[in-house]
Amino acid sequence: MRAAFLVGAFCVLTLTGGCTDTAKAIAPTADSKVAPTSDSRIAPTNESAVAPANEAQIAPKVTFDSAKAWGHLQKQVGFGPRPSGTPAIVETRKYIIEQLKASGIEAKEQAFIGMVLASHYDTKLFREFRFVGANDGASSTAVLLELGRVLKARQNELTIELLFLDGEEARMPEWRGTDNTYGSRHYVQTAQKDGSLKSLKALVLLDMIGDRELLIKRDSNSTPWLVDIIWGTAGRLGHTSTFSNQLTVIEDDHIPFLRAGVAAADIIDLENPTWHTPQDDLDHVSAKSLQVVGDVVTAAIPEIEKRIASER
Ligand SMILES: [Zn+2]
Repeated sequence: MRAAFLVGAFCVLTLTGGCTDTAKAIAPTADSKVAPTSDSRIAPTNESAVAPANEAQIAPKVTFDSAKAWGHLQKQVGFGPRPSGTPAIVETRKYIIEQLKASGIEAKEQAFIGMVLASHYDTKLFREFRFVGANDGASSTAVLLELGRVLKARQNELTIELLFLDGEEARMPEWRGTDNTYGSRHYVQTAQKDGSLKSLKALVLLDMIGDRELLIKRDSNSTPWLVDIIWGTAGRLGHTSTFSNQLTVIEDDHIPFLRAGVAAADIIDLENPTWHTPQDDLDHVSAKSLQVVGDVVTAAIPEIEKRIASER
């Protein structure tokens, strides 16, 4: 028998502040890799109503607060190990949805995606030790929740979707073949079928961004223009020691998007000694790291919007 893989909830932030929460449309299944999604999640948005705004107008009124992100991280770790199909990941999903609601991000059907910010919230299954994934799973999900609060208070040029992915981790010990990235592959397939993928112009994926000695290298699989914007923003904000120009090659939830022709960048520090060990716990992650990534992504969004708008 296969464990259930739930794609889980995701959310759309719109210019007017509406949001899609498709969790209700995605029912748990016992034996299939992915749960079915509703094909009714699509409704047109009024794209033409988007008036160009200058940077001051679209600057966030709310700033990224790593204390809040830290609370989200601790909460997830408190649920314990969160592999796909476990009661703990159901609790995690409930928490994500509650927190989005607390930020005023409400459910709304939506066709136009624009840009996606994503994180996986499942943790890798280990039987030989207790793995709570403070960094690998909780850190990026915490930042995404806090980004939701920040972006909700901003007049976004594009529809921005927050995508909380399940099933990133391989079920088997090794990362091989199609035994990984279940949620992102399912998402891309669904968006291809319903036609919404065409409107998706950029994916910014966050994964493992909480470790104390955060060093994020440029992923060669990612789309150069998007990486340039994010790393350029990090440079402007003085975070060159975190966002390094060293190169690396990463396979992650951005790959299905890239294969489908969507520009994508992965913000990840894969080279940390606690990765997939019992030490991936609260003692080895820091709110400061969450703040750096939160600030860089927030500041990069206007640039990404400009680039996308110039291609219309
Ligand atoms: Zn992992």
